[in-house]
This record gives sequence, structure tokens and C-alpha cells, in this order.
Amino acid sequence: MSGPRARPEIMSIHAYVAGDSKLPGANRVIKLSSNEGAFGPPPSAVAAYAAVAAEQHRYPDGGSGELRRAIGARFGIDPERIVCGTGSDELIGHLCHCYGGPGTDILMSMHGFTMYQMSGTYAGSRVLKVPERDLTANVDALLAAVTEATTILFLANPNNPTGTLLPNAEVERLRAGLPERVLLVLDAAYAEYVDKPDYDAGIRLVDAGENTVMLRTFSKVFGLGGMRVGWAYAPAGVVDVLNRVRGVFNVNLGAQAAAVAALAEPGWVEKSRAHNLEWREKLGAALRRAGIGVHPSEGNFFLADFDTPARANAANNFLKSRGVIVRAVAGYGLPHCLRITVGTAEECGLVADALAAFMQQQPSLASVDA
Ligand SMILES: *Cc1c(COP(=O)(O)O)cnc(C)c1O
Repeated sequence: MSGPRARPEIMSIHAYVAGDSKLPGANRVIKLSSNEGAFGPPPSAVAAYAAVAAEQHRYPDGGSGELRRAIGARFGIDPERIVCGTGSDELIGHLCHCYGGPGTDILMSMHGFTMYQMSGTYAGSRVLKVPERDLTANVDALLAAVTEATTILFLANPNNPTGTLLPNAEVERLRAGLPERVLLVLDAAYAEYVDKPDYDAGIRLVDAGENTVMLRTFSKVFGLGGMRVGWAYAPAGVVDVLNRVRGVFNVNLGAQAAAVAALAEPGWVEKSRAHNLEWREKLGAALRRAGIGVHPSEGNFFLADFDTPARANAANNFLKSRGVIVRAVAGYGLPHCLRITVGTAEECGLVADALAAFMQQQPSLASVDA
């Protein structure tokens, strides 16, 4: 072999497998595989995107100034401490490259978001997956895994794909137990869906020190996954670092316009949140009645537990035969589960019916414990 060769760790990365979006032969596809939000994009975002179409020869504002001011106003935070990215994925990557690298360890929990592993490995770090308790990040285990080499700890809260939430007091205990030099990255992609009165997505901890970052995205509740917009709220030192390395024009013109408009769409988050609470509960209850285990979730999705990988596969194939796409999560170490996004009322009904029919075909499964 004499051709060009990538660093060996690159070849250990598995290319990201996104949620399917097409099924050969199905005339209607119900896509519940990527947590995209039940209602499509906000109408005002669609209009704002269209309105800048004739300006697309212009470079966008490289610093996403108007968008940062809109985010700052919405969340009551300083726009100077916000960095926008091409999805929060871009920012995850930059954090890994800037604070990780060869000789460093990056920590995440066992069933944490896979992007941390991919980006950390790409940066040259060793990425350690720390055991969880009841599919939930375990603060004692995470703290016990910290060494001199640890530079970043990623925590998605709520986590994808498990949907589990670490209570505020536990997140604070985690921060307090970490060395000052370790960057704690709180990924709150699903913050708007959380239904816990004391939940803090991360703003308090970012404000409390120099070493915590909060990541947010427009891809979930705001319905703009295709636009690729995410943001970080971070201490000044981290903002400075990210601004040195991010793509100079990383958030494109249409994306900035759409995101600003999405923030201003009246009642959008409230409506999405109320719908999600109602249908996450109803769909979960329907699956339980059908004999399928359902893990409690604080996101706009949940894990349906089929007890064995074979049953989960069979259920997945059955759903596909009915035009329903959900997410297999074997790559997350959960081969017995499927992750299902909460869709519209109609979509939830179709999934519930399909899975009830699936379970009826397998009488021996009807006793699977929740
Ligand atoms: C969907 C998701 C993201 C968002 O990614 P974008 O790049 O902003 O689309 C980040 N973190 C978690 C845990 C997610 O599930």
C-alpha cells in the first residue's frame, strides 16, 4: 500500500448513519427517526428563507450578529457569549479539536450521543464511555473516570437516544467534582421538551465559572434540521477559541434568516411542547398496552424496548413494511430497542396501531415486561 493514508484512529470511526428517510416501494413514508419535531418548520421561517433567496450572491454575516442578538434576547443572555455553528455538530467538533487531541481523554456516558465519540476520535483523543445506571449518566462513575489526561466531559441532558435526564443537583455535583481544567459540555438539544420545574439547560453553570459550555440547536423543537444551525453559550475564553477556528461564514444566509424568524414565531415552542407532552404519554401508554417496554423520556422521542435484538429487528421491519421509519439504536449499544420520535397525532396513532398488530402476531411476546 503506497497511496495516501489517514491517521489510524480515523479508520476506527464509523461513518454516521443518519435516520432513514426513504423506503423503497412505500407511497407514504412516516419518518420518526430523527427527532425533527412534529410540525415541520415554523411558517415564518419558511417565509424568511424565501425572502433572502434573491440575496444569495451575498456572503452572510460571518458572526451571525442578528441571530446572536435574537438568541440573547430570547434567553436573557449576552450575545457576546454566544457562538453560532453549522448545527451544534460543528461546535462539538471544534470543542474536541481545540480542547482534546492526542494524549487527552474525552469522557461521555455509555449511551451518550455518538457525535462525541466520532468528533473526539477525529481530534485524536481517546474517548471513554462510562457506565450508566438505569440508562442514565452516573455522576460517581464519571468522576471516577477522570484522570490527568481528561480535558472534556460531554453530557447530553436530556440524552439522545435514551431520553433520560440527570437532575440539576446531579449536574451541579458533577461540575463541582470535576477539576477546573476540565471543560464540561452540556448539550441541551432537547431542553424545550423537558417537563421538570427545576431543570436548567446549563445557563446557570455557564455563568458560574470559566469551564462549562451549553450547546443548543435549531434542529429539534424549532424544526430547522435542514438549515443546520446550532449555538453555544460559553465563557469568554471559550468563545474566543471557537471564533478562531469556526468556519468564517459557517451559518449561511438562509439559515440565519430562518433561525431569526423561528425564534419570533408566536407560540411555536409552547405548542410543540404541549403536543409532545400529550403524545409522548399517549403513544407510550399505547405501546405499553401492546406489551412493549417504554423507557421514560424527557425528549421528543423515547426508547421502545423489545427485550431482544431479534424482536427489535422484527418490529423495525414490520414498521418499515407499513411505511414507518424509526431509529435502530444497536450502534448505541441498545440492540433490543428502537427509538421512536413523537410525530403528529395521526402519525402516533399509525405507529401505535402498527406495533399493536406486530405484537399480536407474536403472542409469546405479549408478556414482555415494561
Ligand atoms: C440532534 C442533536 C444535536 C443537534 O445537532 P445539530 O447539528 O444542531 O443538528 C446535538 N446533540 C444531540 C444530543 C442531539 O440529539
